[in-house]
Amino acid sequence: MMINKKIFGLIALIGLALFFSVWTVIKLEDSYNLLTRYTQISAWVLTKTELETLDFMQQLERRVTGTDTSSHALNLKYDILWSRYQMFLMSDETQVSKQKLNAGEIVEHAFNTLKKYESAVIHDDINQLKTMLVEFGPISVDIRDLVVESLTGWHTAQKSVEIVKNKDESMYFIAVIFIFLLYLAYQVYKDSKAQQFLAWNDPLTGLHNRNYLLNEIKRRDTHPSITLILLDIHGFKELNDRISYEYGDGLLKEFAIQLNRYCQPYGLTCARLGADEFAVLIPREDFDIKSFAEKLWVKLDSSIKKMDPAKRMSLSMGIASSQDIPSASTNSKQEKLVLNNADLALNIAQKRQNSAAIVFFDPAFDAEHQKRRKLTDDLNDLLTQKQQTQLSLVFQPIVMNSTSDYLGGEALIRWTHPDYGEIYPEYLISIAEKSGLGKQLGMWVMHQVQTLLNQELAFCRQHIEISINLSDSLFDYGLPLMVQEIFGYNRDDLRSIIFEITETMTLDNIDRSHAIIRNLKEIGIRCALDDFGTGWSSMYNLKHLHFDKVKIDRTFVTDIHRVKNQYYFTSAIVTLSHQLGIKVTAEGIEDEKEYLTLCNMDVDEFQGYHFSKPLNRADFIDYCTNYFAKQQQHADHPTAIPQDHD
Ligand code: C2E
Ligand code: CA
Ligand code: CA
Repeated sequence: MMINKKIFGLIALIGLALFFSVWTVIKLEDSYNLLTRYTQISAWVLTKTELETLDFMQQLERRVTGTDTSSHALNLKYDILWSRYQMFLMSDETQVSKQKLNAGEIVEHAFNTLKKYESAVIHDDINQLKTMLVEFGPISVDIRDLVVESLTGWHTAQKSVEIVKNKDESMYFIAVIFIFLLYLAYQVYKDSKAQQFLAWNDPLTGLHNRNYLLNEIKRRDTHPSITLILLDIHGFKELNDRISYEYGDGLLKEFAIQLNRYCQPYGLTCARLGADEFAVLIPREDFDIKSFAEKLWVKLDSSIKKMDPAKRMSLSMGIASSQDIPSASTNSKQEKLVLNNADLALNIAQKRQNSAAIVFFDPAFDAEHQKRRKLTDDLNDLLTQKQQTQLSLVFQPIVMNSTSDYLGGEALIRWTHPDYGEIYPEYLISIAEKSGLGKQLGMWVMHQVQTLLNQELAFCRQHIEISINLSDSLFDYGLPLMVQEIFGYNRDDLRSIIFEITETMTLDNIDRSHAIIRNLKEIGIRCALDDFGTGWSSMYNLKHLHFDKVKIDRTFVTDIHRVKNQYYFTSAIVTLSHQLGIKVTAEGIEDEKEYLTLCNMDVDEFQGYHFSKPLNRADFIDYCTNYFAKQQQHADHPTAIPQDHD
């Protein structure tokens, strides 16, 4: 809207400038006409007419007085004057003086008089020529007056006034055009300055942007050493989403001010690279990077903690230098390499939250980077193969309290890589998510669970529920349809699926999460809130998002019988959840004491090494077979010894 107004304003100004230009040209043309056509040409022709009239009269007098004995010269002058008068009367240039000065009548009278004596001139009739001389006396006076009038008369004076007026107006219009052009030039200058600013700066904080930084590194290509510090505010995104974008903007601006204030005295370049990612470029060798970075970290970390007294944010730093780059690659794009290295170091720092938040690039990180790339490529291949043996699912049993005749199992992914061995599931998931394979991997997991339920576990299908962990990319509006396409549309069948969702997945957009969970519920799928107690868990979200289950994280379960705070926290969660109609599962139970304590709290479901480690497909099928056989036995012979979950 703003831009449109500005463009329209400029177009209007250009239109006005054009109008004034055309006007000025017309005025100049007018002045030219006045000056040439009327004043100059008229005066010149009249002067010529007068001179030739006088010339003729002189010759006439010489002939009449006998000074010239031949009529030859008179005949010549007669012809010249004849032509002059005829030309004066017929030509266009004399139009103005004919009209304005009444010159037409005077010259016509002269011409008629001249014609009247044609025969006298031809026959050299001296008497007639004498009369002609007398008659031409007043005519020459009239023509003389005309010349005087055309050069100095009232009309000429009036034309002069008009010319001066035109000149003044033209000057005025030229001045207006000049001001317009000046204004336009100023606008263009201002706009190009703004464009220039946007091309190299971040509009929110005013710091330089990524392009500027890359350019600066490139500019210093030949410099022996440049160091790049990348900074990331961990936890910013969550706060920004939770509180408000205004709050987030304010925080980033303040952070940028502090960063700039600290770096300016050293003449260092500061930039904002992404939402909460900043950079400092140090193009110097004589610099104690370590001590500078530590002081900068302390200053900025305390400043963000001041902005969020609840201390939900922390600062990570990744540092890389051009000296880390092998000399062989100095010819390749140094700016990209330094940035990549600093980015790798920053990634490590982010994972080490709070312990060692400043990480210097190490060539080993690059090996890690290469490994991730290889794993990404391999995962991509595996997911397109029908028969593969590297990826598999294991199932960890979840046992219910005595009131339920169900058995649960959590599907957990495993990857045995031929070069790298066992890949940690969290690592695998992060690779899949970052490379855009998350959805494909999730579908692969669901297909595996579907065949297990439909084939090997078909005998206990009505009493089993399998929990599937969702990753970020799966949790979207298309999920219910995808699930139905894989597991079918039968509500009873879909009851054996539970999706485990972590709270961070739902935080980005609570309303959207609410809608997805509701849509899943409508088709018969239940959802559990995983890892409760870590991160941002709140009872509000537990209730508001209509979870069916909450899984209390292992960190609260371990030693629960010994650590009072954990006991009180878990007990309160169990009570509140039950009041909201939500079931509680405890994860990571490793011994009997933990189990008994949780049992006494009325926890509904139990999972952990105490009952069983995750089992491969065949072992899990055996586990289920034995479990339900024992249940059957117990139902047939209620006095028999109850099962011990082992
Ligand atoms: P999670 O969802 O919290 O899964 C439970 C993790 O705790 C599993 O680790 C399980 O082996 C481990 N665990 C269970 N009982 C005990 C115990 O008594 N003591 C100890 N120390 N650990 C226990 P795992 O299999 O390594 O999985 C780790 C995480 O990887 C999972 O945490 C989940 O977040 C993720 N994950 C695993 N499989 C999948 C998957 O198929 N999809 C997605 N999106 N994530 C998965
Ligand atoms: Ca889980
Ligand atoms: Ca968990």
